[in-house]
Amino acid sequence: MSHKELAALALTGPSVLPANRRPADLSDNHAHPPATLRQPAFISLRKHSPVDTPAITQLFILLITSVTLIRLWLARRQIAHVAAHRDRVPPAFATAVGDEAHARAADYTVAKTRHAMHELLLGTGLLLALTVGGGIGWLDAQIAAQLGGDGLLHGLLLIGAVMLVAGVAELPLSWQRVFGLEATFGFNRMSKGLFLRDLATKTAMTLLIGGPLMALVLWIMASTGDAWWAWAWAVWAGFNVAVMALYPTLIAPLFNKFTRMPEGELKQRIEALLARCGFESGGLYVMDNSRRSSHGNAYFSGFGAAKRIVLFDTLISRLSPTEVEAVLAHELGHYKRQHVSRRLLLIFSVSFVVFALMGWLLQSPVLFEALGLGRPTTAGSVLLIVLTVPYLLFALRPVLASYSRRHEFEADAYAAEHADASALVSALVRLYKDNAPRPGALSGVRLAPAGSAAHRPAAGRRRTGPGGGLRAAGRVPQAARP
Ligand SMILES: [Zn+2]
Repeated sequence: MSHKELAALALTGPSVLPANRRPADLSDNHAHPPATLRQPAFISLRKHSPVDTPAITQLFILLITSVTLIRLWLARRQIAHVAAHRDRVPPAFATAVGDEAHARAADYTVAKTRHAMHELLLGTGLLLALTVGGGIGWLDAQIAAQLGGDGLLHGLLLIGAVMLVAGVAELPLSWQRVFGLEATFGFNRMSKGLFLRDLATKTAMTLLIGGPLMALVLWIMASTGDAWWAWAWAVWAGFNVAVMALYPTLIAPLFNKFTRMPEGELKQRIEALLARCGFESGGLYVMDNSRRSSHGNAYFSGFGAAKRIVLFDTLISRLSPTEVEAVLAHELGHYKRQHVSRRLLLIFSVSFVVFALMGWLLQSPVLFEALGLGRPTTAGSVLLIVLTVPYLLFALRPVLASYSRRHEFEADAYAAEHADASALVSALVRLYKDNAPRPGALSGVRLAPAGSAAHRPAAGRRRTGPGGGLRAAGRVPQAARP
């Protein structure tokens, strides 16, 4: 297909701006060169903003670097704390955890935190280069020059190009995490071929699912006027719910093999537990996590009676049936205490506020110029939201952390009530030793942080973080996050 045909295709997309709202008067605004057809509907026609561009640029850089510096400082503190307690097993665990296992867990935590610091630095550098550094503006100009037009296709190509740049930039660190960090501590079981296959599958899924979804979002933004953010939020929320519903049957099997749990003591125990707790499930499955990692885990996915209970083979191979039962009872506790639905509700309401805020901010063409995008476009708005919102949400972290900490205690209490409490303790200690897990795990001398090792990242969960937001379009939300 020639560039001209592509351009024609782009123009058959929705008109970027309803005819009656085309800001012909903008053409005399030198700050925003030929913007006529390109202005999204929701951009206000104000020509002069009371705040000047350099001030916004500086404020933006200040905000992003402050968040980054605070996070680096917190990570350094974490490393110092763990390192200081490396050689001392807390008294309460002295009999259960050996010195060597404790030291190894501390080393792993330090290495993992360091890795996260590198990811953060890369993400921030990338964000600044793409925005105020002019990266997105440059890509925008290249695509516009090639297509010779503007429209849906242009927007999709711009978003795709930015995702590609970010994905390629992040690749070395992802590789290093699996084949450096995880392999050093003996957790990695993934072959290089499987890593590449996963990468190809994720990319294909992003194109197949993320592409049409993004087209829908861009179309909505261009055609719904001032309330675009509410529509975009609705699409985003609907997409998340749909993925959660489809994840167990359609998406997860692309990455892992799920087999029905074989008959035996474990299955009987679990069925008895489910009956005791009044929990309906759509089946008990074992997932071949051992292909990728030796970390153990358990999770639920799906909705209603179709919920599947998934246990990692790595969990079953290391824990006794009573211990697996106790870990599962903890997960059931999350369901029974409504943690999953409450978390969803929280995420949806916070994101509603964020979308509203962005809807308000992005009315100003000055903002696009100040952040290096040159001109206001719908695709530019999407990119700004996806790239910067993780930094804005940083402020909420302490709240979210205390919230999930409370939930972990509640789930532990539920497990102690419905299963063998001492089995839960021994399971958590064993997972602690095997997973060499969680920042500060035992040094904090509380059970819950170590407990969360029982349900750390489930299969399809994407890494989030500074650059993680870039993949939001293809992001797979975890149905039953701990
Ligand atoms: Zn939990």
